[in-house]
Amino acid sequence: MRIAFVQDSGMNESAALLVLSGLLKLGGHTTRLFIEHDERDMFGALRRFDPGLVLIAIDIGGHHWGLGMASRLARDIRAPLVVVGTYPTLELDEVLARPEFRFVIPGECDVAVPALVDALAAGSRDLAAVPGLHWRDVDGQWQRNPSPGYLDDLDVLPAPDVSLFEPYPYLLQFGVRRFVSGRGCANRCSYCYNNELSRRTRSLGRYVRRKSATPFVAEIADSLAKYPAHHVHMGDDLFTHDPAWLREFAPLYRRTVGVPFTCNATPMSLTSETISLLAQAGCHGVAVGVESGDQVLRERILERPARDEDLRAGCERVRKSGILLAAFNLIAMPGETYEQALSTVQLNRQLGVQVPRINFTIPLRGTRMTERAIEEGFFTRQAQADLEREVAAGRFKLGPCFLSPDNAQFERLFRVFQFAIMMGLGDAQVRQLVRSDLAVKAIPFRMLMLYMERTFFRIQWVPGLQMYLHAGHPLGRTKNFNNFIP
Ligand code: SF4
Repeated sequence: MRIAFVQDSGMNESAALLVLSGLLKLGGHTTRLFIEHDERDMFGALRRFDPGLVLIAIDIGGHHWGLGMASRLARDIRAPLVVVGTYPTLELDEVLARPEFRFVIPGECDVAVPALVDALAAGSRDLAAVPGLHWRDVDGQWQRNPSPGYLDDLDVLPAPDVSLFEPYPYLLQFGVRRFVSGRGCANRCSYCYNNELSRRTRSLGRYVRRKSATPFVAEIADSLAKYPAHHVHMGDDLFTHDPAWLREFAPLYRRTVGVPFTCNATPMSLTSETISLLAQAGCHGVAVGVESGDQVLRERILERPARDEDLRAGCERVRKSGILLAAFNLIAMPGETYEQALSTVQLNRQLGVQVPRINFTIPLRGTRMTERAIEEGFFTRQAQADLEREVAAGRFKLGPCFLSPDNAQFERLFRVFQFAIMMGLGDAQVRQLVRSDLAVKAIPFRMLMLYMERTFFRIQWVPGLQMYLHAGHPLGRTKNFNNFIP
């Protein structure tokens, strides 16, 4: 059977979708990706492909686009539509309430989608045996098949099917490729979907799983032999939490792949041994979650376990090793003051962060942080609906989302944040910069952001520009880089 995957832009690449494509091909099926942003007439292209099933992944945050597109697909394309993604996973009842959908699969899809495709290909009308499928029976009633549970042994999965990108050469020419060794995250940060997802799916099995190092390295080597890249990004939420795994991975990767890579890490995991293994493997950069310069905010609002001393010790080891140090930072979180946000600039400076990433705190639906912010009066459900509509319409203007008397200052600080850290400015100088209309307007913060990402991922100018022209600025991304739900 032919299966069409529909996606909004090349920016929102999904590792789980590539694995799903590999699984379907193993079953003898044909898959094809359709990126709306890059197609002149996507519906025409879909009709020519004549799929037996269309799959759309809808993400929290990008769900207004996803729901709108799914409705059009259900109306205009003859093939049945299956809806997957973090949105139906966390907001299942909302999706099931829509009359136009027939098939919905919340959570991981490695078992459910191939089983559904096989059943449809065999002409079966009784879909009760498709694990995890929500489907309408002949009376139009939803039937909810029990979930197959989390796949425990990831080594049984096929390699991600990168050929899915072939219709869009800019994705293959980018030169930077993303690989994922595991699924789930051991942390439970209050603002992240991982927290809610792991809580709700406790009965499905182990949430955090990982491939063995040997097949993972082989997968990267094979993939790069076919589709070369000069840089690899390990897209795992946390890559360094298991020293035994790294001990096996590091020499193998160096010997078999040898392409410089970047990864994400918690400060506590950045021990001398971990850093030396990363350096041995050829790690170019590590991104650490700093998020806030105020430890109380970090612990109470974000529920991140990183203490100042852990951050300082871990970051110092990274710097001494010569590995590039990047940091994730958030601004304008619920209850944050301007003074606390300024402390984030200073902590990044003290830690010697070379690639300081900054983003406004986004209230993701259903997370503990969002719910608490609503209870405490920093946010409203109406504001959430408005924000999501703006995102869907492509009109979302990046800025503070929570109610605060300091929002105007947050906006100004956001624009000078990276510049201030790059220039090593002290507290008084940063305050001055924020007060200066000229500086706030003149600092090209979007360009600076691209420049820093370019440094971290070693992006080359021409493919980088090509990617930018197709997929836009990374700030426009709406996908949660979830590693196991397409
Ligand atoms: S924010 Fe990052 S570290 Fe925290 S739970 Fe989510 S993925 Fe894990």
